[in-house]
Amino acid sequence: MTTPTLQNTEKAMVSSKIPRILAVANQKGGVGKTTTAVNMATALSAIGKRVLLVDLDPQGNASTGLGVKRAGLRTSTYDVIFEDASVVDTAQPTKVPGLFVLPSSIHLSGAEIELVSTTRREYRLQEALRTPLPYDYVVIDCPPSLSLLTLNALVAADSIVVPLQCEFFALEGLSHLVKTIERVQQTFNPRLNIHGVVLTMYDPRNRLSAMVADDVRKYFGDKVYQTVIPRNVRLSEAPSYGLPAIVYDMRCPGARAYISLAGEILKREKSLSASASPRSPKDTEAA
Ligand code: ATP
Ligand code: MG
Repeated sequence: MTTPTLQNTEKAMVSSKIPRILAVANQKGGVGKTTTAVNMATALSAIGKRVLLVDLDPQGNASTGLGVKRAGLRTSTYDVIFEDASVVDTAQPTKVPGLFVLPSSIHLSGAEIELVSTTRREYRLQEALRTPLPYDYVVIDCPPSLSLLTLNALVAADSIVVPLQCEFFALEGLSHLVKTIERVQQTFNPRLNIHGVVLTMYDPRNRLSAMVADDVRKYFGDKVYQTVIPRNVRLSEAPSYGLPAIVYDMRCPGARAYISLAGEILKREKSLSASASPRSPKDTEAA
């Protein structure tokens, strides 16, 4: 079996460039952020991309869902944000080839308070990630709040993927998220845009799901991905085996939906990068 040290050496040998950074964010709890981040990242690595999943949530669901034992960690996302720990050395290999995870530790639960008195507190994650790294994509799993941690993700990201659960209060609080995104664009990160909105936990037998999906499409137009993630028990079972659903049961409807979503994301990536504003001289130099 390959040791983490060898994996890290191998990572260092892969050519480095500034990765595309996608943040999975919605301040509402339990809408499918982590399930989307884990399976989207897995699907991207299954088609040959090198992907780093950053677990920015003190709950650590993305880390445990990818089989990381949080108790034994020497360094974590916390050390990358506060101690300038190396991203590549902190990243853990997963059972999915090409997929690495920057694990969250319990220390992250104090990060909000610590960030308040940290210099350049909004830019800590950007400084760690917007630099040449041996990954094509970085996917950030955000906590369920519009806190300083989420702000760090929005300042670091190129684009945001917003999961919305197909339930009655789906659109509640969304205008707040959209306003926050606009404020981040104006103040910290002009590059930021909404990559897309993904409808999750869709139940075709429930009329409410269809009504909510219609409302969301009226509000967000073609920002809503065509792929809808169905409610599927396999998606909720997989994390308890430390596996993404795409590996746990590739044929289940949830896994198939996430594979289709990754295809749509990559298609949209092409049009987004074609229309993207020119990179700063520093970015171009580093790329
Ligand atoms: P939090 O805000 O707490 O971080 P979250 O937005 O990351 O939550 P998840 O953890 O992905 O949401 O999902 C919440 C719960 O719903 C989990 O138990 C997950 O396994 C389950 N779940 C997510 N998506 C689906 C789905 N499509 N079908 C069935 N269960 C799902
Ligand atoms: Mg989560």
